[in-house]
Amino acid sequence: MRLILLGPPGAGKGTQCKRIVEKYGLTHLSSGDILRAERAAGTALGRKAQSYMDSGALVPDDVIIDMMAGAMQKAAGGYVLDGFPRTVAQAEGLDAALDKAGQTLDAIVNLVVDDEVIARRLTGRRSCPVCGAVYHIENLKPRVEGQCDKGCGPLVQRDDDKPQVVRARLKTYHEQTAAVVGYYQRRGRSVVEIDADRDIDDVTTALFAELDRLAG
Ligand code: ADP
Ligand code: AMP
Repeated sequence: MRLILLGPPGAGKGTQCKRIVEKYGLTHLSSGDILRAERAAGTALGRKAQSYMDSGALVPDDVIIDMMAGAMQKAAGGYVLDGFPRTVAQAEGLDAALDKAGQTLDAIVNLVVDDEVIARRLTGRRSCPVCGAVYHIENLKPRVEGQCDKGCGPLVQRDDDKPQVVRARLKTYHEQTAAVVGYYQRRGRSVVEIDADRDIDDVTTALFAELDRLAG
C-alpha cells in the first residue's frame, strides 16, 4: 500500500503513522523526521533546512522533492507519507516521481482538526530525541513525567513547538499546504476526510476502517 496522510502540523499524523506501520507493515516516511535526522547528522541538507525549520517556514520544494523521491525508492514494501507533499508544487513533484516509478497511490487521507486544538497539541508535545517516540503533557503522558517510556532518557520540547513558531507554522499551513487537498480533488482523486478532533484511539479506529476497506 502507498498512502498519504495530510493534515496540519499537530493533527496527529506521526502518532497515527506509527500505528499504521505496525499494522500494515509499511515504511513511515516523515519529511520532518528525515530533515531532523539530517540536521542531527550535520549534513549539507540539514544545514540548508535549519533556518526554514526554526522560523516555521517551508524548506524549498526542489530540496524536499529530491529527498522524498529518494526515500520512496528505498521503501519497496509500501509507505505512508507524513508531512509531504506540503505545497501544490510538491504534489506535482510527487506525481512525477510516481509516474516515473510506474506507481500509484492507494489512498489520500486528510486529518481534520481546527487551529485552536492544534496549538494546544503542539505546545504540549514532548518528543524523545533518541527513539523518536512522541508524547503529550496531557493527552498522552509518559509513565514517568519527562522521561521516555522506552528508557531512552529525558524528553524534549521541539524548538518549533514553542508558541511563537507554532503560530508561524499554522500560517504557513493555511497559506501553502491546505491547497494540496484541492489539488488532489481537482485531479479526480478522492480524499478521505477523518475527524481528528477526538481520542487518539478513535482516530485510529476510523483510519483502520478505511485502510481495511482498501486492502479488501
Ligand atoms: P503531527 O505529526 O501531525 O505533527 P503528532 O502525531 O506529533 O502530530 O501529534 C501532535 C501532538 O498531539 C502530540 O503530542 C500527540 O501526542 C498529540 N496527539 C496526537 N493525536 C491526538 C489526538 N487525537 N488527541 C489528542 N492529542 C493528540
Ligand atoms: P514536521 O515535523 O512535519 O512538523 O516538519 C517540521 C518542519 O520541517 C516544517 O515546519 C518545515 O520547516 C520542514 N518540513 C517538513 N516537511 C516539509 C515539506 N514537505 N516541505 C517543506 N518543509 C518541510
